[in-house]
Amino acid sequence: MKTKLWKTVQALLCLILLVAVLGMITLFRAAAEVERVWQTAQQSLQQVHSPKDPVFAAPVPTVLDTDLMPTGAEKVIFTDPLLPENALYDFVQSRLPQYAHCAVTASIEPRHEPLQTTVPEWTLQLPEGYDAHLTVTDPEGIKVFDGAVQQSYTRTFAANGTDVCTLTLRQQTGEGRASFTYEFQVMLDVQPTVTLSTETAAQGDVVAVLVSGNIFGEPMSLSTELGLCDFVPLDTPGSYGAYVPVAYNRGVGAWPIEVTVGDTAHTLSVQVEKRDFTVQHMTISQSVADSTWNSAAASTEYRAAIYPLYELTDNERHWDGAFIEPVTGYRLTTQYGLWRYTNGKYSERHSGIDMACALGTPISAPQNGVVLFADYLQLTGYTIVIAHGGGVKSMFYHMNSIDVAAGDTVATGQKIAEVGTTGYSTGPHLHYEVKIGSQSIDPFQLFDGTSGLFAGLSAAG
Ligand SMILES: [Zn+2]
Repeated sequence: MKTKLWKTVQALLCLILLVAVLGMITLFRAAAEVERVWQTAQQSLQQVHSPKDPVFAAPVPTVLDTDLMPTGAEKVIFTDPLLPENALYDFVQSRLPQYAHCAVTASIEPRHEPLQTTVPEWTLQLPEGYDAHLTVTDPEGIKVFDGAVQQSYTRTFAANGTDVCTLTLRQQTGEGRASFTYEFQVMLDVQPTVTLSTETAAQGDVVAVLVSGNIFGEPMSLSTELGLCDFVPLDTPGSYGAYVPVAYNRGVGAWPIEVTVGDTAHTLSVQVEKRDFTVQHMTISQSVADSTWNSAAASTEYRAAIYPLYELTDNERHWDGAFIEPVTGYRLTTQYGLWRYTNGKYSERHSGIDMACALGTPISAPQNGVVLFADYLQLTGYTIVIAHGGGVKSMFYHMNSIDVAAGDTVATGQKIAEVGTTGYSTGPHLHYEVKIGSQSIDPFQLFDGTSGLFAGLSAAG
């Protein structure tokens, strides 16, 4: 009985031992399998998705030729044989946090400073192979773009300020999907500036008032007692010039020039310096003098026809460089600004130049322009006035015949008339004169390209 009981206990102990051993073997084998799976997963990740060898390199779009760097990357999803495709990102994040964003963290330097520009336009250039979505919020806080972009996107500012933009690039490859976010700003801050081409000018010169950076075309105005002129566009966008005459008889000293651009007023000053002019003693037959210079009717007719033209200015610039001399083979008989005594009495300052040459010598337009007047006047004979823009005009007197009519457009070098001796004239010559508003300037500075009339023009010479 005692032996039988012992045997039963022994058998029971053996059974318990067997069960325990079998259980331990099973547990051990299960743990080993878990470890194997885990090792395989890690190896797979390290081989394919090591941080030093990212599957998805961050693409580099550009704005204003500046590389954009991603400010964030999300849902960098890897496919892996051991795990459901869309689950690996969660797995990586929860189990291997050091691998989260492993494809992009290596080189990210988020850009927080706005990109600065001085032109009212910027362009986003995209790398190839991505689906791109862009939103642009303008300086007023209005979303001006929200949509897909192919290759590039160009935006034009309507005012100074900062555009706030978000770009998302998505890529799908055999290895998985990636999404990169770029947050960037583009800032435009350009204020118009006003400068003078020179602070000192001699009698007969031209002083240019140059405006730059007026890229939104704010209204401009200019006021000076030196003369009437108007702004014309220059070659650089946002740049304008107004050409102020300093006539031969302007007093020496400081002359103010008031300029307004938009709401901003600028007060400038030009110092006029003395220039020496020659003196001429001329005799003319009393009958010619009486029918022209001394004739009230001739004077009245001239003023009625010509004076209103002084007030005409336009914002177009027709001249594109130095003026050519309107006649060739001439002899300069009366200089600009000269003091003239006629028949023994002081009569006038000469506001143009007299170019003596043979009767019938062809006369050329010295620069591009529009004919404002072409007709016969008792005082000046056959007379032509050409507008070159901005209030600048060429005047031609005493001609034998004219080839153009008011309203015609003329090009530099085009024949407009022939030399004569009509009106207040003692012999065949061309009286050529350049006026800005009602003020006469030195024509020779236009021929040799030294005039302030060419300041701001790239084609000057
Ligand atoms: Zn003259």
